[in-house]
Amino acid sequence: MPERATVTVLGLGPMGQAMVRAYLDADIAVTVWNRTAEKSDRMAEIGARRADSVGAAVAAAEVIVLSLTHYEAMYEVLGPVADGLTGKVVVNLSSDSPEQTRRGAEWVRAHGGEFLAGGVMGQPEELAGPDAYIFYSGPREVFDAHLGLLSPLAAPEYLGADDGLAQVYYQAMLALFLPLLLGYEQAMAIIDRSGSEIDRFLPYAQRSLGTVTDLYAAWAGMAAAGGLGDPGYLRMMDAGARHVVATGAAVGVDVELAEAVSSYWRRAIAAGAESGVPVSTFQLVRGTA
Ligand code: NDP
Repeated sequence: MPERATVTVLGLGPMGQAMVRAYLDADIAVTVWNRTAEKSDRMAEIGARRADSVGAAVAAAEVIVLSLTHYEAMYEVLGPVADGLTGKVVVNLSSDSPEQTRRGAEWVRAHGGEFLAGGVMGQPEELAGPDAYIFYSGPREVFDAHLGLLSPLAAPEYLGADDGLAQVYYQAMLALFLPLLLGYEQAMAIIDRSGSEIDRFLPYAQRSLGTVTDLYAAWAGMAAAGGLGDPGYLRMMDAGARHVVATGAAVGVDVELAEAVSSYWRRAIAAGAESGVPVSTFQLVRGTA
């Protein structure tokens, strides 16, 4: 009978716990360790092996999956047992900046381990569902060799050898998502404080998402050409953005976000007027106007 695959998971926040469940569902033996021991006990109750120390957890498997708050925590957790990393494969699925990730990769390799970085796209409760996936970066051969232990977590998306790349994509996705959430809250606040019902607004908000797929494609083409700096377009967007600020302000909504958004078209118009060539909001955001 083939030996049961085995993995170690360090870090048992909501995400680490969801990972343990995913491994157990895939009949993979999981050893766990967590700074706060009670969380390990909870995982032991559902079938994980609870290591008494981080050293024992590292020794228990070749592949060590980290699900920690940030990279700093990796040094705190693995620092005292760094000598035990020789021959291990550290898969750090914690979020942080690309630069912290690259430094973390170097640190693991300096201690004789192999390293892969990942960025988890999905909430813990979505991990087992069809929409979740994980960006990976690092050496292709390490990724390929351990695909069997990466796939049970969520669909793997390999991006390239640069260790920081998974976090470049992860952070870019957050850059997309965070303003979307705040923009939605702003829209709901305008509806609500104007005396209408958010539930009534919801289908229109949802319908707007249908147009975004094509918009992204069109904007990607535009970005490749430096963005849209046409003065007529900029003036139209400027006027629209100012109306959003006025509408929100009139009903008492916090318009700091709306004002920040609105400022970009004003800045693009001013920069274009000053330089005598069209300047797009993409150039402003890109820092190359
Ligand atoms: P949490 O911050 O809730 O938990 C992270 C784990 O890190 C806990 O086990 C915690 O231990 C441990 N930890 C933090 N600091 C230290 C330290 N200094 N020393 C030792 N252990 C430490 O995070 P999540 O589980 O929610 O997420 C884990 C990672 O996954 C994060 O990087 C997050 O950005 C990413 N992620 C999370 C998503 C989510 O929706 N939750 C979605 C996508 C990505 P203790 O229990 O002792 O506090």
